Amino acid sequence: MISKEISGVNDMNDERKLDKETIAIHGGEYEDGKYGNISTPIFESSVFRFPNNKKDAVIDKNRNLPFIYTRLGNPTIQSLEEKYAMLESAEDSLAFSSGMAAISSTLLTFLRKGDRLLSLNKLYGQTLDYIKNSLTNYGIQVDFITVEDLNNLNFNPKDYKMLFFESIVNPTMEVIDVKKIGKELNDYDIITAVDSTMSSPVNQRPYEAGIKIVIQSATKYISGHDDITFGFVSSSKKLTNEISLKRKVLGGIPDPIQSFLISRSLKTMFLRVRKQNDNALILSEFLKNQGIGKVNYPGAESFKYYNIARENLYGYGGVLSFDLEISYESAEKFMDNLKVIKKAPTFGGVESLITMPWETSHTYISENERLSIGITQSLLRLSVGVENVNDLKNDLENAINKI
Ligand code: PLP
Repeated sequence: MISKEISGVNDMNDERKLDKETIAIHGGEYEDGKYGNISTPIFESSVFRFPNNKKDAVIDKNRNLPFIYTRLGNPTIQSLEEKYAMLESAEDSLAFSSGMAAISSTLLTFLRKGDRLLSLNKLYGQTLDYIKNSLTNYGIQVDFITVEDLNNLNFNPKDYKMLFFESIVNPTMEVIDVKKIGKELNDYDIITAVDSTMSSPVNQRPYEAGIKIVIQSATKYISGHDDITFGFVSSSKKLTNEISLKRKVLGGIPDPIQSFLISRSLKTMFLRVRKQNDNALILSEFLKNQGIGKVNYPGAESFKYYNIARENLYGYGGVLSFDLEISYESAEKFMDNLKVIKKAPTFGGVESLITMPWETSHTYISENERLSIGITQSLLRLSVGVENVNDLKNDLENAINKI
């Protein structure tokens, strides 16, 4: 039986044997025979009866006791976490109110005064800001490593308590060799943590590769509709137990209604992301053939990181960037001339969006630093949605012709 009766929720062994596409639909759903519901209901209750001495009381997996208070655990959130853990092939997952809540709670769980963190030097702006300017206030020492040095494992894992990186660098699209890192560092004590938002569990499952903690901003591909802010951390039960204690005191648990919506989103995640993969590959080739400047896409055979991408990814994702090598004003005009593709600074949703990282995600670093990492005033990041690809091509072609 796939959906389980609402009592006794922790035997996921039968579900785990199913394909991820099937788990995304049926996994973790709490079915109550008394009602015959198919989807897990929304338990919009901040508190539960206490004490709950019912013999068949459903157990909060983080406390091994009946639910008591939603900041500690809630049936709708837990149902989602069980589905999600299976999708990442992890022992357990924790849901958060945002990707940043997931990242900050995880780092704060394991890093103490005097500990050393090794971090990739190119990260989502607010993550980098948090690591550089907040974590260091707690006496945590941070060293930064380049993509090349990380991919070549040019560091001593014994020097660090934790390693934090992103699987694909946004928006320049360098791909990290997650499999190599997972394999080579597995025997060390270093806690490896990857933000795999750019890949989603459809295109990459770092926990299978030996990475100890996988973090997602579910605001992107997982939500998929540009309407919810959400996050996940997936790991061993031992580590999620520790992180759940931090989530409890920092308060980053999501609302049950949002959790229900994310569970709904997961049911179409494979369909959406695979269509985005297909559309983005077609558009990367189309843009390359237009003879415009540089196109960065992990799935393009000419791209520097293609071989690492092929080794590590099931699909190459819906995000690509391209440098039109024109003035700032012309690049702005190019974006304004797009009719289907909208100007907005996020990625992973069903609607195609375009943004100029120079003036959005990367304003936190100096102009010279931006230029030194390839972020120019005409580098545009395109998040490809699930629209008909010919409409997207025509939209781009019209705007290119007007440059
Ligand atoms: N990680 C990556 C790679 C992101 O792109 C973002 C947001 O854009 C985050 C984390 C933060 O996630 P959220 O906005 O859900 O807090």
